[in-house]
Amino acid sequence: MIEVGWIKTNWRRCVESLDALVYPWSCPLCGTGREGGSPFCPRCRGLIRAAADAEPACPRCALPTNAVVMPGRACERCAHRRSLGFDTATALGIYADEIRELCLLVKHERNSWLVRHLADLILFVRASKLTETPRDAWVVPVPLHANRRRRRGYNQAEELARGLATGLRLPCVSALRRVSDTPPLAELPRSTREKIMRNAFSARPSRGSGLKGRFVLLVDDILTTGSTCGAAARALKAAGAARVEVVVVGRAVEVQS
Ligand SMILES: [Zn+2]
Ligand SMILES: [Zn+2]
Repeated sequence: MIEVGWIKTNWRRCVESLDALVYPWSCPLCGTGREGGSPFCPRCRGLIRAAADAEPACPRCALPTNAVVMPGRACERCAHRRSLGFDTATALGIYADEIRELCLLVKHERNSWLVRHLADLILFVRASKLTETPRDAWVVPVPLHANRRRRRGYNQAEELARGLATGLRLPCVSALRRVSDTPPLAELPRSTREKIMRNAFSARPSRGSGLKGRFVLLVDDILTTGSTCGAAARALKAAGAARVEVVVVGRAVEVQS
């Protein structure tokens, strides 16, 4: 009997190959020609790099710091607030323009082939930070609830975690599960999000002992108020993780708190 997993894997490969046929010469961001090994045209590649290099970011929350703050120091907000749950946060860039467009593209499974390029971009642009990751660290994706994962058939955070783990030669471990199926949080204020997300994650019992004293790179696509990554980080720490560093593609600048 052919296993469902085999069909899914091969179906995904088939979809990826079709995308490769559709997109061999067009940039997924602007549709113009691309060249070399990059999926992006030279102009979009330049724009992504510029967005990634735009402003010095706070090492704790990945938001832009103002010019007054020394590079590498926490921003004004982090200096005065309680822990976000994780120790540091690193983003490819602010969730706007090209970075936002990339995050929206990879929400769809048919663009899953792009995720590994995003992982490579993050590894390249944030190399100085990510190459400091200890060799016994785990790369852990922020999971979707099982029902949602089944409905969508795909979680871009898992793909991104896999890409980062491959690049860093670290294991990608599904150490968390989402125990409550939370509603979309995008429009909710921070306090409501935090209330909803509290206890939304738990460490998988089979992974619990491995998490003791572990350094974890926690991976998601977008960081907004930090309540999702914060709740996931707290669950990892409750299971014994020593340090949790968040890695995302886009850092959304909050409009409300
Ligand atoms: Zn382009
Ligand atoms: Zn900060």
